[in-house]
Amino acid sequence: MKGHPDVIVVGAGLGGLLVASEVARRGGHPLVLEAGPVPGGVAATVHDENYLLEPAAGSFLLPHPHLTPILESVGASVVPAEPVAHRRFVYDRGELFELAGPTSLTTRLVSGRGKLRLLREPWVRSPATVIDEPLQSFLERRLGPEAGRTGATLMAHGVFAGDPDRLSARAAFPAIVALEDADGSLVRGVLARRRTRSKDTPRARVHTALNGMDGLAAELAAPLGDDFRPDWPVESVQHDGSGWTVTGRGEEHAPAVIVALAPAEAARILPGPFAPLLNEAHAAPVAVVGLGGPEAHMQVPSGFGVLTGPDAGLHILGLLFESSYAAGRAPDHHRLLKGIYGGDADPAVLALADDDLVALAIEEAGRILGVSLRPSWTRVIRHSPGIPQYHVGHAAWLDRLDHVAAEFPGLHLAGWGYRGMGVTSLAQHASALAERVLAAP
Ligand SMILES: Cc1cc2nc3c(=O)[nH]c(=O)nc-3n(C[C@H](O)[C@H](O)[C@H](O)COP(=O)(O)OP(=O)(O)OC[C@H]3O[C@@H](n4cnc5c(N)ncnc54)[C@H](O)[C@@H]3O)c2cc1C
Repeated sequence: MKGHPDVIVVGAGLGGLLVASEVARRGGHPLVLEAGPVPGGVAATVHDENYLLEPAAGSFLLPHPHLTPILESVGASVVPAEPVAHRRFVYDRGELFELAGPTSLTTRLVSGRGKLRLLREPWVRSPATVIDEPLQSFLERRLGPEAGRTGATLMAHGVFAGDPDRLSARAAFPAIVALEDADGSLVRGVLARRRTRSKDTPRARVHTALNGMDGLAAELAAPLGDDFRPDWPVESVQHDGSGWTVTGRGEEHAPAVIVALAPAEAARILPGPFAPLLNEAHAAPVAVVGLGGPEAHMQVPSGFGVLTGPDAGLHILGLLFESSYAAGRAPDHHRLLKGIYGGDADPAVLALADDDLVALAIEEAGRILGVSLRPSWTRVIRHSPGIPQYHVGHAAWLDRLDHVAAEFPGLHLAGWGYRGMGVTSLAQHASALAERVLAAP
């Protein structure tokens, strides 16, 4: 034991673990309290019959200015994905299209007319004021109706299992909207960033956790020693004279507390004014379907995977070629595919029972790949409340939350419900939070 903690982190999902690791990396003393028996939260890797199925985060881009130092500080076992990971596909109108950088413009995914409109993007006028608009309107405005609708559907399906008409472009994809804000055009913005990127800056590449994301979570928790407390469900977080008292299996005290839970769960344990606001957050249940089997029965192309476009006529939102891009996800001479269903994009499909969802995944994946799949290993994992949905209004909601939080110095919120859905965004937010917590008087 290292004396009193500087900060208590509630929740040991990847969001809580990254912020605790960053506090420790900067010389602070975090105490992490987790309701479950193991760290990792929704990223609870399935290890079964030598298959490794990631039910949530399965890959991330490295190097990253905030994630890389944290992973290095704990000696995390992360490895680059196979080089085929750059091969990405889209299925739409009954056809499979391969997208490969700028040559994507030569695919028939977008018509000749749509491509001509795309080329006008640098001359499209930007709005005079900052607006919070749906992803689809934003991309249709910039890229034209055809490429905009297709691009918005792919981005919404691929990252949020979301509805492109409800997701906020600015909240869900801030880096893309920032190109318009800074340079008045997505094309000009990308070119400007390429020019200013130093030749020495390595290009970010897809990486995976060698022993699964549950293994990575264990590696993040290990250096905390006794300051990672599993089976410690927090019941309340209350301000006291000199900081915060966290109550659950006992009572802990620290000058600061970071609540790294989904907003609806945070609402249950936080002081009064937070609950109504946190309960306004949107999340959408999803199901992940794993299909594995011998390679003779599972012809999986090499590459990262397929996203489905607006006219795919299928329920599946994305199909990942797990055993192709990531080492160790299937036994030797076997293959593993992962399909994503549901979300805001298609909530009704989740009414299907697991067996029917598996049958649907076999049929739809086979249709996309043009083969007959005969998996011998299947798995369905359902997430509820599911993936946070940053709808139009999300940024204003965050402002209102900040306003309430300003009344409670030392109390902070973290995790995928707020300021970025992927592991790299969690690391970026972790870095900002650690700085604030350790700088506080
Ligand atoms: C299908 C899918 C695919 C994804 N793919 C990717 C990807 O490829 N790349 C990527 O970067 N990200 C991906 N993500 C997102 C990534 O998995 C999440 O951002 C991340 O796992 C969320 O972590 P978190 O800590 O915010 O939340 P959680 O994992 O929900 O953690 C919250 C933790 O708090 C604990 N808890 C709850 N209540 C209490 C309490 N009262 N007291 C104490 N503890 C409590 C829970 O047990 C849990 O451990 C994906 C997500 C999904 C669902």
